[in-house]
This record gives sequence, structure tokens and C-alpha cells, in this order.
Amino acid sequence: MTMSKPNPKERTLVLLKPDAVQRGIVGEIIDRFEQKGIKLVGMKFMKLSDAILDRHYAEHKGKPFLPKLKTFMRKLPVVALALEGLEVARVVRAMCGPTDGKNAPAGTIRGDYSMSRSTTVVHSSSDAKAAKRELAIFFKSAEIVSWERPDADYFYAADELN
Ligand code: ADP
Ligand code: MG
Repeated sequence: MTMSKPNPKERTLVLLKPDAVQRGIVGEIIDRFEQKGIKLVGMKFMKLSDAILDRHYAEHKGKPFLPKLKTFMRKLPVVALALEGLEVARVVRAMCGPTDGKNAPAGTIRGDYSMSRSTTVVHSSSDAKAAKRELAIFFKSAEIVSWERPDADYFYAADELN
């Protein structure tokens, strides 16, 4: 079996949903990703159109909760984040916690901020492949800005950087 090379440049999409904006917890949530050592490479404040939401939620087409979800996502602006790091899609999903905040463990974002299965505070891409598709919906390539940490070796061991 060949081991895949570590990719510290993997990227994922996070949306801080209208409930996060309304409750004024945008900064606290971004803080969690920064403190974890995940690199912020894109950030946008935007109101979502119906067309963007149809593209973003294509996998949920036909589901009974989709119309209400779209209404909720259009209520207020959202903050879109592009995040970068080793296995970042999986790590960020774990930090967000399971969909229903009532079942989300304390210490996860939903576990700490949500009591609901619909007002879930954050969206995060389910894996690196989904992240590529979703990032392209919210960011033009020039809006994602690569940068290097001078102290990267305090965030990753040498064999995790390539
Ligand atoms: P996740 O956001 O954890 O990836 P899903 O992709 O299954 O969850 O659902 C997308 C979003 O749709 C959820 O974050 C939530 O806002 C909403 N949602 C999911 N399931 C339900 C439901 N049964 N009732 C109402 N809203 C839901
Ligand atoms: Mg999902």
C-alpha cells in the first residue's frame, strides 16, 4: 500500500451562517480555527443568492428541509472562509461537530453554540473533494491568498511538511 504524501495545502470551505452573524459570534469561531493552527487563506462577507444556494446545496435537492434551509441562509449575510492545512477538511468537520447541536459534543462549535438541527451556526465541506467544488462557488481563484508561516515548524513536524 502506498501512503499518500502529506498535503499541508489542503483546503476547505467554512460558512459562518446567518445565526452566527446575528449572534455576534463570528470572531469567536474564527478564533477557534486560528488557535488550532489552521491557516486562513480567504474570507468574504456576502449575502447569498438563490442561485448560489442551489449550487452549494445541490446534494440536498428534493429534501424536505431544503426550502426552509435556503430561506434561513438568505436571512442575513454569511462569512465564507477558505481554510488551509493538513487534513483540514476532516479536522474542521470534527471541530464543527455533528449536524444537530443537541447531539454535538461539548468542545465542538455546534456543541458549544447550537441547540438545533437547522440553525447549525457553521457549514463545513464534507471532504477535500467536496471542498474543491464548494470553494469554487464562493471564491474566485485570485480571492484565495496563499501565504507561508515563518514559524511553520511550530505547527507541523518536518515530515508533515512537503
Ligand atoms: P451538515 O451541515 O452537518 O453537513 P447536512 O449537509 O446534512 O449537515 O445539512 C445541511 C444543513 O441543512 C444543516 O447544517 C442544517 O442547517 C440543515 N438541515 C439538515 N438536516 C435538517 C433537518 N432534518 N431539518 C432542518 N434542517 C436541516
Ligand atoms: Mg453537509
